Amino acid sequence: MTKSTKRFETEVQQLLDLVIHSLYSNKDIFLRELISNASDAIDKVKFESHSNEALLEGNSDWKIKLIPDKEAGTLTIRDNGIGMNIDEVVENIGTIARSGTRAFMEAAKAKNLAENPELIGQFGVGFYASFMVADKVTMITRKAGDKGAGCRWESTGDGSYSIEDAEKETRGTDVILHLKEEMKEYLDEWRIRSIVKKYSDYVQYPIVMDITRKEPATGVDGKVIEGGGDIEKTVEETLNSMKAIWARPKSEITEEEYEEFYKHISHDYDKPLKTIHYSAEGVSEFKALLYIPAHRPFDMFYPDRKKGVQLYVRRVFITDSCEHLIPEYLRFIKGVVDSSDLPLNVSREILQEDVQIKRIEKSLVGKVLGTLAEMKEKENEQYLKFYQEFGPVLKEGLHFDFANKEKLQELILFESTATEAGKFVSLKEYVERMPEAQKEIYFITGASRATVENSPHLEVFRKKGFEVLFLTDPVDEWVTQSLREYDGKKLKAVDRGDLEIDSEEEKKEKEEKREKAAKEYKGVLDLIQDQLKEKVKEVRLSSRLTDSACCLVADEYGLNANMERLLKSMNQEVPESKRILELNPDHPLMQVLTGLYEKDSKNPRLNDYCELLYDQALLTEGSPIKDPLKFTRLVAELMVADGKAQLG
Ligand code: ADP
Repeated sequence: MTKSTKRFETEVQQLLDLVIHSLYSNKDIFLRELISNASDAIDKVKFESHSNEALLEGNSDWKIKLIPDKEAGTLTIRDNGIGMNIDEVVENIGTIARSGTRAFMEAAKAKNLAENPELIGQFGVGFYASFMVADKVTMITRKAGDKGAGCRWESTGDGSYSIEDAEKETRGTDVILHLKEEMKEYLDEWRIRSIVKKYSDYVQYPIVMDITRKEPATGVDGKVIEGGGDIEKTVEETLNSMKAIWARPKSEITEEEYEEFYKHISHDYDKPLKTIHYSAEGVSEFKALLYIPAHRPFDMFYPDRKKGVQLYVRRVFITDSCEHLIPEYLRFIKGVVDSSDLPLNVSREILQEDVQIKRIEKSLVGKVLGTLAEMKEKENEQYLKFYQEFGPVLKEGLHFDFANKEKLQELILFESTATEAGKFVSLKEYVERMPEAQKEIYFITGASRATVENSPHLEVFRKKGFEVLFLTDPVDEWVTQSLREYDGKKLKAVDRGDLEIDSEEEKKEKEEKREKAAKEYKGVLDLIQDQLKEKVKEVRLSSRLTDSACCLVADEYGLNANMERLLKSMNQEVPESKRILELNPDHPLMQVLTGLYEKDSKNPRLNDYCELLYDQALLTEGSPIKDPLKFTRLVAELMVADGKAQLG
């Protein structure tokens, strides 16, 4: 292929512009990103060589070499990893294949990339960090096994890059950074040393650099020659310790070491909230070093986010995308698992089926849930921090991990009518403070505390002093389908079916009252029912309401407003399901309607009122009304009529 110039994908260029023009508080991370790419590339060739030894080309002296060249003003990062062919370079470096990128762009704009450079790593756009310090980047790479087919990529980051065939004897990649004038500090030996130590100490391959020192000249006997002057000596020095921290005894590891390792594997700038380090022995032997992050990453809800737990076998990296190592609902966990039982050349298919992996998973889940339970008990404040970040994810477990239901239901928390915003109650506490007369656990689902907190459905519960849980995460609708009972008490939605909240006496009293009201309001009820028959399943008098005129309720198995909203937001078909319109028999509106009806049952205004009642009920539950124009016209007319009446 002769030299050709190609344009970056628009999004890559946007990203590059952000990287180039933002003022970073910390430019050092470019090196961490490039070293991490180099290390990944070595992981890959090492792994693939288990099944195809030819890829080694006789060289398995794994190494990442840093070559500062003061005269040329360049810093080269060289690896003997898997390398890339031309197509792969174009695909990996010229385009953004990952869907998280758009989200990154948005997050970067919103969160001010200048203050959050770690975003770059989180979104897997690490290579472009080069342009923070270089005004031109050259990459010369050759794929393992493709002797004679190297390529050279070059760009100044301003819209396009060039690509052409190139000679490269050895397998792997050289990234050559032509440093900007004001970035020449990155050629300094001590500067490079300290960055490597800080960010890349645990990289499991040697990161080497040629170091030249002046030494007094010595004779053949090794003794310094008096007056012999200095001679220059160059040695290749390894800059990182490569110690697999997880393999060392806990007692020897400092807090700082745990933290640095966390930052290294997670690309997080913050400390982890909790560190879990243990070894399992017996049927399954492995070491695990797991972390609970302090913050939710941006890609928590993206399907193609990076997996958080890496799998090693006897300190050899196997994969960072083993699906079955940790369940989805614990996907926020970061860390390393190193197994002594698995074979090195374990394949994807084997990983899916393997009983060892299943055993490891079971152990990790038990350990994490146990740690969370302990945190909740003993470090409640920490636990609340955790819960605010990851509660909605953890709750998915109730739906998917039946075996751990008992443990999970003790870990979930809710806001409620009895808590302030941002404060929580557990199911256990809820049950403990239930008044004697209360038999069930009540909850309301909705988009946010603000939308559910003023719902008319809560009126009767407030009056009785029964606490109602606010379930405002999207996952909650599924949670309540799986968690039907706690401590022998049913979980009951306040906007669904009939309520069993009254004592026998109250029931009798209410029943009598309702019968009387049903007779009194029969004409009006029939009229409303008839007018709204396309929209509601039934019209009936309510025992839920004390202040509001009306509300909508789902029947025991029907769709409530929140579920409708969720299905719509997921672009799913919403099945036709009519709800029940409940009217408050004690509301003055009922008497006014009855009065009007008795005066003239054909009064067309009555029909308008029926429509308005229904629209009101929709609005209070946060659902859209079908004909907002008609609604506003009617309200305006009523205002005019009422205003006129007031004016006399
Ligand atoms: P990430 O490393 O997070 O995937 P990058 O933008 O840093 O994102 O790199 C994009 C891709 O380019 C990598 O996934 C990898 O396939 C390829 N790549 C980058 N650096 C190297 C390298 N030194 N050797 C081989 N492939 C590389």
